[in-house]
Amino acid sequence: MRLVNGERRYNVWAGNPNGMAEVETRCVEEIHESGRGGMFRQCDRKRGFGPDELYCKKHAEQFIEAPIATWYYTSPHGWEVKPEPIYKETSETILIKQGNRLVSTKKRGYYSYWPTRDAATQHLKMRLERQRAELATNERAFDETLKAKDK
Ligand SMILES: [Zn+2]
Repeated sequence: MRLVNGERRYNVWAGNPNGMAEVETRCVEEIHESGRGGMFRQCDRKRGFGPDELYCKKHAEQFIEAPIATWYYTSPHGWEVKPEPIYKETSETILIKQGNRLVSTKKRGYYSYWPTRDAATQHLKMRLERQRAELATNERAFDETLKAKDK
């Protein structure tokens, strides 16, 4: 792919200096077509991934860089702490990898991500303490029921 007067052109070579025009719904990657005399063409998959969403899912993978840190995930009902590589961080969100895609997720929410293992276990400890308090309340209420006499 070459830029000709600011436009992406495909299969540009001496015999075809203007090449082929870009199809703006398709991935911008240029593919080398083997077995057809070394032609180049625009990837024909739908764009929507990678930088400026200009790439298909497959060709966007080349832009996924190494993780910048490890955060820790606690599920809303479970009790384990799972390390989660993160690829980018903003004040509100982190980018995590799901399959071959980078997805943005809130730092805290229904699913929770924590910057350290300690923060994650602290969160679980507080959840456990809330459940203990709730259990104590329920036990007292049940005791009252046992003590109650019919009038
Ligand atoms: Zn592609």
